[in-house]
Amino acid sequence: MRPGFDLSGKRVLVVGLARTGLAASLFASVYGATVTATDARPRSELEAEAQKLDAVGASLALGGHPQEVFLNQDLIVVSPGVPLDLPPLALARSRGIPVWSEIELAWRYLRGKLVAITGSNGKTTTTALTAHILKTAGIPTLVGGNIGTPLLALAESSADTSVIVAEISSFQLEAIEAFRPEIGVLLNLTPDHLDRHASFEEYAAAKMRMFENQIERDVAVLNADDPEVTRRMPARPHIYWFSRKKRVAQGAFLRDGQIIFRSEGAETILARCEDVPLRGEHNIENALAASVAAHLAGAGPADVARGLQTFPGVEHRLEFVAEIGGVAFYNDSKATNVDAACKAVEAFPGTLIVILGGKDKGSPYTPLAGRLRGRARAAILIGAAAEKIAADLEGAAPLVPANTLERAVEEAVKRAQPGDVVLLAPACSSFDQFENYEQRGRVFKELVARVASASGAETSARKG
Ligand code: ADP
Repeated sequence: MRPGFDLSGKRVLVVGLARTGLAASLFASVYGATVTATDARPRSELEAEAQKLDAVGASLALGGHPQEVFLNQDLIVVSPGVPLDLPPLALARSRGIPVWSEIELAWRYLRGKLVAITGSNGKTTTTALTAHILKTAGIPTLVGGNIGTPLLALAESSADTSVIVAEISSFQLEAIEAFRPEIGVLLNLTPDHLDRHASFEEYAAAKMRMFENQIERDVAVLNADDPEVTRRMPARPHIYWFSRKKRVAQGAFLRDGQIIFRSEGAETILARCEDVPLRGEHNIENALAASVAAHLAGAGPADVARGLQTFPGVEHRLEFVAEIGGVAFYNDSKATNVDAACKAVEAFPGTLIVILGGKDKGSPYTPLAGRLRGRARAAILIGAAAEKIAADLEGAAPLVPANTLERAVEEAVKRAQPGDVVLLAPACSSFDQFENYEQRGRVFKELVARVASASGAETSARKG
């Protein structure tokens, strides 16, 4: 049984009014709380949200975070973008006011089985794939969290028979209390968000909180090939490993081109590797994790195979854009950290031109150097991080400063030869020049479409 939390009559402060904060404010109001919502942005930038909150009678404290509104509360719900060391939040905590992320509150209202997926890279792909397999199996499935719909917005439609597949970030895990998924998946642990977490240790510890409230009958699905994961193994839950490289005693692995699931000594063939339609070895890992999670949540082997085969992929993740004059263009705008960009580069064995850069996130770019050496026709550098990338990649590839994405596509087109791949895999976040990675990816696709129409070339619709 989940502990629940009765919002009725409670004073609730919601900090941060992006999609999640808005959902939390509306939910708490509907459930009878007296809600105040605060955001550093002024009302002029939040008019649409403010009108929705006015309509449910919530109070607003916009354009800053006045300390007094933090102290007079029964509960504070923080949005993922809000740092927990914000001084008024720290003060409220020191006075004993619970500070929760939205997933903590949502978990208390959700019904059904929760499959929660975290990791440094691959969360969205694995979440979408797990949900797709479960839906293929005819299991009533809801999907949300970081991937789109906030979990609280799923609470109403969840039922005891539902499986909720949730993408969970380290920021959300930082402010949980009793949150406990029946199935928790950890894909990998590599440096990310070091601009916000004080250290890799702190970041990894936040991810591991996924498992801290699990009990013996719960399940942890863990990457056996990632030493940062294996050395932090949680103690209580039942562990299922997945591995691309070796056989595991309990979990999933590859043998003779098949995905094998092993549990209590019995082996089941879940699918063939060729059923995985996504490019790159990292996507085999995502498919292994999704297969294990979906199978444990009720999908049979035939459903796993069919779900993998029919998965359409996710936009901005190694997304095929067009082939123009024998050059294939791929959009991996979601490669917002160095490890993701490395994986994207590795997914293409031939000669490539890679577009890198954006807002630096604090990790070195040197891991890309070895992967580009000898086969990158050029690394084209954009955005605020260009100089740091140039310093880290010196000698590994011809470096072309381009500043904007528009110039970068021009430079790539100038240099590309038939058979090459032009890959946008920036290794940086997008906020220096774009609203978000989605906008960056869309702009890239538009630029490529312009090149296609200018060249009069047919663009094929093949999927990557
Ligand atoms: P997340 O939601 O964790 O950011 P996505 O599924 O959106 O993950 O993928 C983000 C990027 O990370 C992709 O563009 C891809 O290049 C890379 N990636 C995906 N899966 C993995 C993985 N298992 N290991 C390493 N990199 C990955």
